[in-house]
Amino acid sequence: MIDLTGRVALVTGASRGIGKAIAAKLAARGAQVVAAARGENARPTADEITAAGGKAEAVALDVTESGAAEAAIAAVVAKHGRLDVLVNNAGITKDQLLLRMKRDDWDAVLGTNLTAAFALTQAALKPMLKARQGRIICISSVVGQSGNAGQANYAASKAGLIGFAKSVALEVASRGITVNVVAPGLIDTDMTRALTEGAHGDWAARIPLKRLGTPDDIASAVCFLASDEASYITGQVLAVNGGMYM
Ligand code: NDP
Repeated sequence: MIDLTGRVALVTGASRGIGKAIAAKLAARGAQVVAAARGENARPTADEITAAGGKAEAVALDVTESGAAEAAIAAVVAKHGRLDVLVNNAGITKDQLLLRMKRDDWDAVLGTNLTAAFALTQAALKPMLKARQGRIICISSVVGQSGNAGQANYAASKAGLIGFAKSVALEVASRGITVNVVAPGLIDTDMTRALTEGAHGDWAARIPLKRLGTPDDIASAVCFLASDEASYITGQVLAVNGGMYM
């Protein structure tokens, strides 16, 4: 059983979907969770975790706001004295074929999905380097590995996370910090509900394991990478996709 007792973990995009499941599972394994999302959006996640006997608090964090990452990490360290795990999960899509894609939609997706991970990871490394330990986990996507028509911005951001994580992994490995990526396949959340509505069966038929993934499937992979069980794993991409891309 994975034990994260005493660890402090910050999860972005923790208001719903995959981020919420990650926050809940980290807390269920004993971590003190800081659930982040815009405004008050992460409050219900923190309340549910607390009601279930876990340790969690909600923080307001728009990952695209300049200076927000540094302030959020500083607040966590001021309150808890440490930051052990950062999960860069917040993400958006703005799908369009490239020829019609607006520059604003490119910038928005790269800003939320990739540049925010840069700012948060940079800020998180400061306390982690001091502690000579830490776990950074980025949530990429199968699309960052395979590409997908209509998602050039999203795929670029998710592929970018992989190169980013591998590079940072090399920079900080000697300090006991690991940096890894989880690449989910098609997971049943708000993000994919519009896409798959009415066609769940069709999508599932194309997945070797014959079902969509659940947020909890992703949370299990994140808990593993955050734990001592994964202490010799860094710079890796863990695909959790039911076999849809190998
Ligand atoms: P959802 O759309 O269900 O949730 C997105 C989360 O990101 C919300 O918590 C939202 O918080 C947060 N978020 C978005 N923009 C910002 C912002 N500017 N600042 C802070 N938080 C923000 O998505 P999923 O749970 O499906 O996806 C989570 C991650 O997993 C994403 O990175 C996504 O790309 C990735 N992924 C998802 C797959 C899927 O099939 N669902 C497949 C592969 C990867 P708020 O309440 O503030 O809006």
